[in-house]
Amino acid sequence: VGDSSAIDKQVDSVCPYCGVGCQLTYQVRDDKIVNVVGRQGPSNLGRLCVKGRFGFDYPNHASRLTRPLIRREGVPKGVDPNFDPANPLTHFREADWDEALDMAASGLSHLRAAYGAEALAGFGSAKCSNEEAWLFQKLVRTGFGSNNVDHCTRLCHASSVAALIECIGTGAVTASFMQATQADVVILTGCNPAVNHPVAATFFKQAAKKGTKIIIIDPRGQSLSAYAHKVLRFSPGTDVALFNALLNVIVTEELYDQRYIDEHTQGFEALKIHVADMTPEAMSPLCGIEPEEIREVARLYAQADKAMIFWGMGISQHTHGTDNARCLISLALACGQTGRPGTGLHPLRGQNNVQGASDAGLIPMVMPDYQPVTDAQVKSAFEELWSTPLSSKPGLTVVEIIHAIDAGSIKGMYILGENPAMSDPDLEHARAALAKLEHLVVQDLFVTETAQFADVILPASAWAEKDGTVTNTNRQVQMGRAAVPLPGEAKPDWWIIQALANRMGLNWHYQHPRDVFAEMKQGMASLDHISWDRLDEEQSVTYPCPADDQPGLDVVYTDAFPTETGKARFSPTRLLPPDEPVDTDFPVVLTTGRQLEHWHTGSMTRRTRVLDALEPEAVASLAPAELAKYGLQPGDALTITTRRGEITLVARIDPQMPEGMVFVPFCYVEAAANILTNPALDPFGKIPEFKYAACKLSAAVLA
Ligand code: SF4
Repeated sequence: VGDSSAIDKQVDSVCPYCGVGCQLTYQVRDDKIVNVVGRQGPSNLGRLCVKGRFGFDYPNHASRLTRPLIRREGVPKGVDPNFDPANPLTHFREADWDEALDMAASGLSHLRAAYGAEALAGFGSAKCSNEEAWLFQKLVRTGFGSNNVDHCTRLCHASSVAALIECIGTGAVTASFMQATQADVVILTGCNPAVNHPVAATFFKQAAKKGTKIIIIDPRGQSLSAYAHKVLRFSPGTDVALFNALLNVIVTEELYDQRYIDEHTQGFEALKIHVADMTPEAMSPLCGIEPEEIREVARLYAQADKAMIFWGMGISQHTHGTDNARCLISLALACGQTGRPGTGLHPLRGQNNVQGASDAGLIPMVMPDYQPVTDAQVKSAFEELWSTPLSSKPGLTVVEIIHAIDAGSIKGMYILGENPAMSDPDLEHARAALAKLEHLVVQDLFVTETAQFADVILPASAWAEKDGTVTNTNRQVQMGRAAVPLPGEAKPDWWIIQALANRMGLNWHYQHPRDVFAEMKQGMASLDHISWDRLDEEQSVTYPCPADDQPGLDVVYTDAFPTETGKARFSPTRLLPPDEPVDTDFPVVLTTGRQLEHWHTGSMTRRTRVLDALEPEAVASLAPAELAKYGLQPGDALTITTRRGEITLVARIDPQMPEGMVFVPFCYVEAAANILTNPALDPFGKIPEFKYAACKLSAAVLA
């Protein structure tokens, strides 16, 4: 809006989408956002991508929930293709808040009394603020009485976090992505930043223009290749073979940094022995990369003065996802590429607050700040803080909870902002399990696919309608502010969680998210020297922050790692094939992910006018040669079948795809990619193998 008289007010906030955490300003007229402009935030410098710039009108969508809903008697639970979210009264009836909250809480309390604390579980959301995440996990731990609380980090970077905690003692990045502009070499692997972290990609492009050598390691091609010094397109699922070959070169050519290894690590001798046989020649037939290419990349990374590694879900979403991340950490430790400007390890986080939600304890095996639930001292500290006895039994993870519902041991759930009826692997199984719940409370903006299984639906607040803090992929804690009023009877999420908690016997009296933040500081040392008032004034403070007058540490672990010994550790990895390798019956690799215009299960972006107009239909991307094998033209219908189901959608040519692979975004309910995906889990991070399933393709006719 160029004409400032056309707007009533401007409100500074943060983008609600990806983990880059771009700061923005909402321009408001007549209590509606009419425009969004970028601000000079540390992670975006005024820039926004298409989602941040145009993805602001979903809160006004015709299907927005404005009153609590209760399921009508006799309506079966499930994703009904004839259900119209804009007219939910076919399946639900409206209720006032007292009736809906009473029913929501009494249903959960009844199950707790009948079957015990372990019969309940909760999914929080990385779409929510830090304060909401804190309250949600506190309700599950103190009100439900178990640690059965998880969120979508389990489906994106749980394996990265598992490896980072094991090897360097913490689950967050060691340096921001802005540091890439100071690096000599940057490895981007298993990520496609121009699509999934678009403003971060601008920093990589800037780095390349300044002379940083960008190395892209991924089975698929991508637009950032135009800025790359080297591109290694390896065979899908063979990451560990390739990374161990890189380590082998670093060991055999003595490219490692012995002084750094001696001072800061342990376990290198065992790693040396472990990778001795994994020569480039031995690994090349597996990963499809020529030995000399492997050697060249190993030398570039190891001999660089300053080098960084960034990775995405192409690394983490495998049954060997934790092993993938362990390899990347080993590369950095062996070469001393952490703890200095222009060096570091950085898993690019997906959602705007997935870092913060994890920090705040929406994880079943750890309390806030990754403190183990099994640690007696941790347990007693939180029992004192919350004046409530706590369980020391680690809870179940996202996919384990779905299995437990299926098996009958979990009977009731509270789901805030998550959409497992779209996001979980082997979706028909996950949906069948959700239908078995005796009591499901869903809190969301819309009647999502998951809400179609709910007994009670509580109308929640959109990001631009509430105050709260979020933590981005760089560990920058940032302030979001309400720009527009809540519609109808919708309520702030913190208010709803508190109302439910008090009806389940707790005694909470928060008046505002700032009260919650103050309590968080008592249980989270990571928030030392960061206060609500500071964030309100300064907009962004990075944790850890050593003093009230400092902006926080962009690069961490310069002297020691946060482990018992202060040293990081190498964790050797075995070569394991994907859980479901391709074969003659299912000869093509299916991989899933996001598009630039759409975000996660599409509950927000598919209700955004501009974004939905740009990408309106479900598509599958294939290499031209792959499409030709089936006699298909772009725009033709294609059926993809795996051992778990089939979907039919529109075929699109993508020259960046390798032959033998098909890519499907997971945001389209009409062709839900997760009907196809494999629920096999990484044994450490408990993350499903979304990036590799065996499938077959056939020409089809769209209904
Ligand atoms: Fe929002 Fe991410 Fe785009 Fe920035 S890069 S505008 S945070 S979606």
